[in-house]
Amino acid sequence: MKTIGLLGGMSWESTAVYYRLLNQGVKAQLGDHHSASIAMVSLDFEPIKALQFAGRWDEAAQILVNAARRIEAAGADFLLICTNTMHKLANVVQESIDIPLLHLADATAKRINEQGLTRIGLLGTQFTMTEDFYKRRLTQEHGIEVLIPAPSDCEIIHRIIYEELCHGIVRDESRDEYLRIIEILRSLGAEGVIEGCTEIAMLIQQFHTPVPLFDTTTIHAEQAVRMALTG
Ligand code: GLU
Repeated sequence: MKTIGLLGGMSWESTAVYYRLLNQGVKAQLGDHHSASIAMVSLDFEPIKALQFAGRWDEAAQILVNAARRIEAAGADFLLICTNTMHKLANVVQESIDIPLLHLADATAKRINEQGLTRIGLLGTQFTMTEDFYKRRLTQEHGIEVLIPAPSDCEIIHRIIYEELCHGIVRDESRDEYLRIIEILRSLGAEGVIEGCTEIAMLIQQFHTPVPLFDTTTIHAEQAVRMALTG
C-alpha cells in the first residue's frame, strides 16, 4: 500500500473527514484491521486565512511548499491538498516536490465526465468561484462548462464557509440558502453542482436535493484510496 500525503488543516473540520474516509476506504477494500498509511501535516488555518484575505498568496505558497516538502520527506508517495481554494497554489506546490499531486479539480472532473455531464454549477469560496484557477482547469482540460452563482449569492456561500462551516457550525437557515442557490443554478441549466469547498458536504448531502452533487472531499478521498491500493 502506498502512503497518502495529506496537506490539511484548511480547515481541520474537513481534514478530519478526509482522515475518516481514507481509513474507511482502505478497510472496505482490505478488511481486517487494515487502515490507510498516511503522512499528514495539518496547518494552523488562522494565518493562512489572513494571507488569503490579504491577497498575500506568495507567502501562503511558501507555507504550503514547506509543508509539502515535510510530507514528502515523511515518506508520502503522493500528495493531496485538502482544500479546493488552495489549489490556486497547486502548480507551485507540485513544482517544489518530486511526488505527484492528486489534483482535486482533476479528480472531480473525472467523476463528472464518467457521468456524462457537461454543464455544472460550482459552489466554493469566492476565490474558487470567481477566479480562474479552478474553473479554467475544469473547462480547458476536461471540457466542462462551469456556472457560478450571482455575485450576491457568491458572497453568501463564501460567508457561510468561513463563518460557520470552518468552525464546524451547521445551520438549517444556511442549508436553505445553499439549496435556494443550487436551484437557481439548476434553472440556469446546471446538470449537477460541485461542492467545491471541502466543508460544504457537512451542510448539504445528496438526500437534500435531486440535483446531482459532486462532493469534492469524498471524490478526492476515494481516488486517493484507489491510487494507494493500485500498483
Ligand atoms: N476548505 C475550503 C475549500 O475547499 C475553504 C477553506 C480554505 O480557504 O482553504 O476551499
